[in-house]
Amino acid sequence: MKRIGVLTSGGDSPGMNAAVRAVVRKAIYHDIEVYGIYHGYQGLIAGNIKKLEVGSVGDIIHRGGTILHTARCPEFRTEEGQLKAIEQLNKHGIEGIVIIGGDGSYRGAKALTERGYPCIGVPGTIDNDIPGTEFTIGFDTALNTVIDAIDKIRDTATSHERTYVVEVMGRDAGDIALWAGLAGGAETILCPEYQFHMDDLIAKLVRGHERGKKHSIIVVAEGVGSGVEIAKNIDEKMGIETRVTVLGHVQRGGSPSAKDRVLASRLGSLAVELLMEGKGGRAVGIEQNSLVDYDIIEALGRPHTIDKKMYDLSEELSI
Ligand code: ADP
Repeated sequence: MKRIGVLTSGGDSPGMNAAVRAVVRKAIYHDIEVYGIYHGYQGLIAGNIKKLEVGSVGDIIHRGGTILHTARCPEFRTEEGQLKAIEQLNKHGIEGIVIIGGDGSYRGAKALTERGYPCIGVPGTIDNDIPGTEFTIGFDTALNTVIDAIDKIRDTATSHERTYVVEVMGRDAGDIALWAGLAGGAETILCPEYQFHMDDLIAKLVRGHERGKKHSIIVVAEGVGSGVEIAKNIDEKMGIETRVTVLGHVQRGGSPSAKDRVLASRLGSLAVELLMEGKGGRAVGIEQNSLVDYDIIEALGRPHTIDKKMYDLSEELSI
């Protein structure tokens, strides 16, 4: 391959820039030209494509967000949109692309693969919900943002002897809630993967109160339900003042952690290596600290699972 493209798509995540940088530098190092596709699949369809040089990705390794911008593009779900995209790629002489994004972006990569166009999926999302990798780029940074918030909330929770509900991102995946809850010492962690009963939560809080515990932190993934509603319920059923913090989009931003920068550099580089070997339709990832790649269609068919042992541990440690 002599010319490749790179795009970021869907929800942004810290470390996407480090991945773009790795793709660009690795390719140029091997005498391959790189074109940046701006605004995800939308920019691809519209032909918003520009050549990137070594200097184009200077000073971005530490920056959150994505210099290529990102977008959601309903048109790309249609046959017409996908054909327009391939037409643009052919017009620019781009022989393969690296797609950095989440689950939806991977489905776009799958669509291109099924049309015979070589592409490599790089997992960029804070949700950690991409099959074929233990960790996604941005997850570690988001976790650190959440535990920083939990630590601060804990200070006021202990001072005022209050119960706090902290709502974190994760519509379908509870990884952020589980990891941040464990790292932040939360009393209860609610993930969408496990059925939650309000009565059990109340019983646990009552047990804690009886033991003299005057404050509690409950971490809830947004997919479980509204943190505000859960707090209202606790308030009504137990008569204890319960406050809520919805962390929202602060979890997506910020300078990527060292771990995310290294992961992004390794995965971006692997994506280029695969294209250089003439391989397309692959999803790259990391398992037990080794780089792996899978057939993207096969990978997308696998369900995302949360670490059950870690969930059990969180239950044991938060008695
Ligand atoms: P994320 O990649 O963060 O999960 P989205 O789910 O919004 O974000 O997906 C990003 C984009 O990927 C969508 O706007 C759309 O252009 C494309 N996409 C999502 N699902 C499909 C699909 N089934 N077929 C083709 N393209 C898709």
